[in-house]
Amino acid sequence: MRIAVGKMSHEANTFSSQATDRSRFAVQVGPELLEGLAGTNTELAGAMSVLAAAPDIEVIPLMGAKAGSGGPLPADTFRELLDDLLARLRAVLPVDGVLLGLHGAMMADGEPDATGAVLQAVRQLVGPDVPVVGTLDLHANVTRRMVAEATALVGYHTAPHIDMFDTGKSAAEILVGTLADKLTPTMALARLPMIIPPETSRHTDGPLSEVINQALALEQEGTILHGSIYPVQPWMDTEDVASSVLIVTNNDQELARSICDRLAHDFWDRRAQFVPEMVSPDEAFRQALARESGTVIFCDSADAPSSGGTGDSAVVLQAALKAAPFSVTALLNVVDPAAVAQAIEAGVGATVTVEVGGKLAPEFFQPVSFTGRVRLISDGAFRFKGPGMRGVEHHMGRAVVLVQGGIHLVVMERGVTQWDPQLYRSLGEEPADARVVQVRSPAAFRAAYAGIADEILIIASPGASSSRFEDLPWYHLPRPIYPLDPDTTWP
Ligand SMILES: [Zn+2]
Repeated sequence: MRIAVGKMSHEANTFSSQATDRSRFAVQVGPELLEGLAGTNTELAGAMSVLAAAPDIEVIPLMGAKAGSGGPLPADTFRELLDDLLARLRAVLPVDGVLLGLHGAMMADGEPDATGAVLQAVRQLVGPDVPVVGTLDLHANVTRRMVAEATALVGYHTAPHIDMFDTGKSAAEILVGTLADKLTPTMALARLPMIIPPETSRHTDGPLSEVINQALALEQEGTILHGSIYPVQPWMDTEDVASSVLIVTNNDQELARSICDRLAHDFWDRRAQFVPEMVSPDEAFRQALARESGTVIFCDSADAPSSGGTGDSAVVLQAALKAAPFSVTALLNVVDPAAVAQAIEAGVGATVTVEVGGKLAPEFFQPVSFTGRVRLISDGAFRFKGPGMRGVEHHMGRAVVLVQGGIHLVVMERGVTQWDPQLYRSLGEEPADARVVQVRSPAAFRAAYAGIADEILIIASPGASSSRFEDLPWYHLPRPIYPLDPDTTWP
């Protein structure tokens, strides 16, 4: 059996000022796609744990393209990547199956359902009888087209996301079972008119966990092949957006439909429980500095690079300067390539004054003047050690640490996923010893910061990934939708 494997992953944030062009994608072609997977918590590593172990399966790596969150892809970037994937697939036809690592919230200019377009194009090439199985992020916008074109779609069960390996493994098992004529995956989808703040969408506790646990129980007892609850990536201002529930059974459409409807109602009934409690940056500093001890994480989710933010909001820095001087440490970070260059030119030990942050998304932010001593200069490469994306290397461009009193400010050349304390540790800063740690991530950081955070405060601030949805300029979103329209009804 010949199985083609590919990856096409991106999460759109239409409020992001940064288009996700070709330069933002990590692209691996052919065998590169399967290199370095060992020990990584990734979908393809999980899929390969099944496929490589099967004696009669030959894996054909096509290509993989992965970008972090950001604005939609320019049309030519999307075309170029998709054409490459399709050309490589066409060149190896016929295949017996296809496995795709997808995100499910990818958008391109002119193609808001880019994941659906990928699945449709792959389906057209391989024909109706070849199983095509895809993996999805929990924040996927699962469209009817995606479900129509795929044989099965398998999503994460976790937020913070820690089950990428298991998701890839499940997808490969369903694909292999289908090829062996042991399974006939059948899907039912329910779409709900609501968008949900990721700060309160967790599998560990709270309203989402209660719905996910029901799906997991049904999987474990063998009633369904797979069940996923998708609180959609909320910052997609486009017509076809919904949270959803997707159930996969073994050839039982009626069962899939009834379970899907039951879980969807359960999800919908909890909608009011997702509204997060937030504090202003000034109030957050007041509370953190009033403590005797401990580490307070400032969840600065409104400008999270992993949600499409530029990472250059200086709102929390400004509040720190207002609250200073203090004798404890506040670890903060901001994107500003010009300030990095200025500090590197001044050199370690020099004192510099920089106008930092607030330049990439002027519709949300303004620069802040900061004077600090250059403590450290780094190439900005680091590797995640926590449960989410463990082992995966990340790059923040060149980075410096500037120190003014208790404020230790990491200035980096580009935005980076902030799920892991290794961001700070790689620069000689220890979050566990700090009173305040700024983390630009809505929820996923909770896994790796679990042993560090004595308290987590969700900061109310502006930004492209703000969960104060009413502050954002919506034009295309289908209305009514909860919570923007509190009286929204469903079904
Ligand atoms: Zn996600």
